[in-house]
Amino acid sequence: MTRLYKNIVILTGAGISAESGLATFRSSNGLWNNHRVEDVATIEAYWRNPDYVHQFYNEMRPELYNAKPNPAHLCITELQKKYPAHIAVVTQNVDTLHEKAGNQNVFHIHGQINQIVCMNCGHVFETWGDVSSEDKCEHCGTTGMLKPNIVFFGESLLYMDQVDRLLNSCDLFVSVGTSGVVYPAAGFVQFAKMFGADTYEFNMEETSNNSLFDKHIYGPAGTTLPQFVQQLLADVPTKEEMSK
Ligand SMILES: [Zn+2]
Repeated sequence: MTRLYKNIVILTGAGISAESGLATFRSSNGLWNNHRVEDVATIEAYWRNPDYVHQFYNEMRPELYNAKPNPAHLCITELQKKYPAHIAVVTQNVDTLHEKAGNQNVFHIHGQINQIVCMNCGHVFETWGDVSSEDKCEHCGTTGMLKPNIVFFGESLLYMDQVDRLLNSCDLFVSVGTSGVVYPAAGFVQFAKMFGADTYEFNMEETSNNSLFDKHIYGPAGTTLPQFVQQLLADVPTKEEMSK
């Protein structure tokens, strides 16, 4: 590699959290942590039985609170500190492992477990505590309108304007632990490629033959991603080289 990148977008999915011991939330058999998706991850389920939905996320919160980032998350922080580019992380994960690792510019397009949104006024606040239908919005005072700030099936992804802008200008797009053929990753790589980015896929094993990726790298992201980061850092010119 000889190219010095200016704008890097790293898309992450469940595969990067799996190495921190977190189960895959959306699995191929349609279950969401062993619950039926239509019971815990749709807006209809929330209106039908908000406390059942709250209980599901209340029970999930401590596990995600205690989870620790792994080398794949940590090497992104190193890259952001040492590589002279704008580097954004777009994640499908609702855990906060990127933040715990010290990553900056993180966009949670599926929401995050430690946030609550008021369906009445749109106010978003953070908590690791339990939430119920008895709770009142700290902003507008309405009771019973608080919802986990998790994107349910049928709801729009978050931060898509920002993500579009990032993809428009990115010259390196890296996808980690998410299928390259499923929306939104498939759309993101297509967009990035159209704008001329180099594209890399990191996955545990082959998930696709998506030709939009220039390189497919298979294996645990906790091993493969730090190696890739070291390669990128090796191409950063030293101060002496810069002044020549
Ligand atoms: Zn409110």
